[in-house]
Amino acid sequence: MNTLVQLDNVTKRYDGAPVAAIDDVSLRIDAGEAVAIMGPSGSGKSTLLNLIAGTDRPTSGAVRVGSERVDQLSEAGAARFRRTQVGMIFQFFNLLDDMTVIDNVLLPAQLAGVKARDARLRAEELIDRLQIGHRRDAYPARLSGGERQRVAIARALVNKPSLLLADEPTGAVDTATGDEIGRLLLGLNAEGQTLVLVTHSTELAHQYARRVVHIADGRTISDTAAPTGTLSNSTGVNTTGVNTTGVNTTGTRS
Ligand code: ADP
Repeated sequence: MNTLVQLDNVTKRYDGAPVAAIDDVSLRIDAGEAVAIMGPSGSGKSTLLNLIAGTDRPTSGAVRVGSERVDQLSEAGAARFRRTQVGMIFQFFNLLDDMTVIDNVLLPAQLAGVKARDARLRAEELIDRLQIGHRRDAYPARLSGGERQRVAIARALVNKPSLLLADEPTGAVDTATGDEIGRLLLGLNAEGQTLVLVTHSTELAHQYARRVVHIADGRTISDTAAPTGTLSNSTGVNTTGVNTTGVNTTGTRS
């Protein structure tokens, strides 16, 4: 397997903070993995995600994603890296309320300079596959939580990122919708999408990731494979590669 994400002895100390938010963490994630990062509130999960996404820089250590030294990118370079290599989804969706579904999904492609026609084709294809095509002209306020997260996922995938980062993606929806989002993410991963998921839900981590990394006080305290069998037994999702979502993220890669 190819290493996609590599952290070497990464420490992040916020200005004035008495202790490091991330303390000498080394971690490798292969292309195609689904990894859950777990830990109590304040343990450093979001910081870790931000360091991988290049929204924050480590105090020391190296962060690599693919061929990029993310920690050494300029601000403009990091912005370009995020637009093209990373898709992010968040607990509260972070959609733009004054833009329709289709325009929310299109925006990152437009910002990345994708040709208008190609961007539109890709966005339309994604919203159809995520089963929100019928909501294309709706504004986020009119959508359910599950629909909003589907829009956020479509937006995250529009530039065909190598890495999908999810920060508590089911934290703001009910259990049934959370399961639906979890299955969707697992389906994307079954099709080859590398996924790093931050959660403090043990259930989500064990059902929808294949590897669980626990952190506490900014340090990795365990890194284990999710037990095989739990996945298909508890979710009803076939993890052997059968397409459960209808979303093809890899087949359309150029
Ligand atoms: P988690 O996502 O696990 O809740 P965070 O990564 O948000 O943890 O936070 C880890 C530690 O870093 C916490 O002690 C938090 O208070 C601190 N922290 C997070 N962001 C900042 C910031 N921008 N400035 C100063 N301290 C921060």
